Amino acid sequence: MENIIDLKAHEIRDGYKNKLFTCTDVVNAYYKSIEDNDNDIKAFITLTKEDALKEAENKQKEIENALSNGTFDSLPTLFGIPIAIKDNINVLGYKTTCASKILENFVSPYDATVIKHVKEEGMIILGKLNMDEFAMGSSCENSAFFATKNPCNLDRVCGGSSGGSAASVAGKMAPLSLGSDTGGSIREPASFCGIVGMKPTYGLVSRFGLVAFASSLDQIGPMTRDVRDNAELLSVIAKYDNMDSTSANVPAKDYKNALINDVKGLKIGVPKEFFGDGLNDEVRASVEKAIEKYKELGAEIVDISLPVSKYSLPTYYIIACAEASSNLGRFDGIRYGYRASNCETLKDIYRKSRSEGFGTEVKRRIILGTYVLSAGYYDAYYKKAQKVRTAIKNDFDEAFKKCDVIVTPTVPTTAWKIGEKIENPLEMYLMDLYTVPVNISGVPAISIPCGVDSDGLPIGMQLIAKHFDEETLYRVAYTYEQN
Ligand code: GLN
Repeated sequence: MENIIDLKAHEIRDGYKNKLFTCTDVVNAYYKSIEDNDNDIKAFITLTKEDALKEAENKQKEIENALSNGTFDSLPTLFGIPIAIKDNINVLGYKTTCASKILENFVSPYDATVIKHVKEEGMIILGKLNMDEFAMGSSCENSAFFATKNPCNLDRVCGGSSGGSAASVAGKMAPLSLGSDTGGSIREPASFCGIVGMKPTYGLVSRFGLVAFASSLDQIGPMTRDVRDNAELLSVIAKYDNMDSTSANVPAKDYKNALINDVKGLKIGVPKEFFGDGLNDEVRASVEKAIEKYKELGAEIVDISLPVSKYSLPTYYIIACAEASSNLGRFDGIRYGYRASNCETLKDIYRKSRSEGFGTEVKRRIILGTYVLSAGYYDAYYKKAQKVRTAIKNDFDEAFKKCDVIVTPTVPTTAWKIGEKIENPLEMYLMDLYTVPVNISGVPAISIPCGVDSDGLPIGMQLIAKHFDEETLYRVAYTYEQN
């Protein structure tokens, strides 16, 4: 038998069914792997071991009952499967730190809606994962606690902001994880660590209980070792929620049904703007090879253009910072988290708690966001950015008249060296070039592995579809993976 930690979630289920191991064996195997590897990788902020082992015992009893009654197949798909959670998603009774000093000791009084779904499915939470502070960053180096390293090469960044989510799955310390994506934070680390990461359509997954960064862009999504696990986990979390006013009231789907190994007749659009300057040659070659593969498999490749997408980065950084400056106003040293000591006045509490509690990148964004929203500059920046946002969305609408999915690189490069870009925020922002247009227009996108560079570092390919057409993404991703 293969080592438990090498198994995909759907293979663990088969193991339960065939009585190869118990739920407790699986949970123990993962904690053993965490013990062996996480001193180097540093993906976890909090472990939930005691509860996880208790849960494993309960789930095992249910599995045994089901096996003896012949009802195993009616257990939920991911029953008894462990999962790890990004530390900006609330899990009742555990810390939600957002990798920030300001929330270092904040214990969540409730479960996020996605966590309710995960628990109802019978999944077992292993722990909470490192990230860039408040999800601001692309390398996981902005955590107030420690940087997470890339399991494929410990000198490299794991990507961000869901860096711990990617590293835990790639480093075999969890079979599945949840991340969040505001401008690429699921897809970029998935690409750097060689795993599958899905940013669902805005509104498909409830944001209730996700600490808000930029509310009009944030989405929670699954990060997994293969496309099938990804589809199964999305099916668990994608449900309408009246606790989130932006939740879309669309029927829940079983995305497993979309795992069709066939792209014949599908139109795959290649936007020239995403293959221009700044794209690393090896990344380009890998993605072009994947496009050739699709052609071979019977897809029709069409040239498309997304002309306004070149304004995506400034548009994103204006809107995201504006929303962040507003959302992060609640961390005032009174209601949440860290409070500075020796303060004389109320203003003192605000100023000192925020100055001491937030890290450099978070402060930079709050200042930028406050600036673009200020009376004299609102029209020039924020209002203008909203107009460009609409134009970018129109670009996608036009493009999808000509094709079913769009293929691009996920990131212009592979994982850079730890420390390489941390002094130059602009250089770091440029890495979000291909991922932010997707959040701006709200469409879904998935990153799947499509090769390695000459240093052996994973390369990711991004597939983008129309609003609520995750099924086509899974179909196209699955076909590539199977071939
Ligand atoms: N890297 C982007 C940023 O720093 C995206 C972050 C995210 O998606 N949370 O804003």
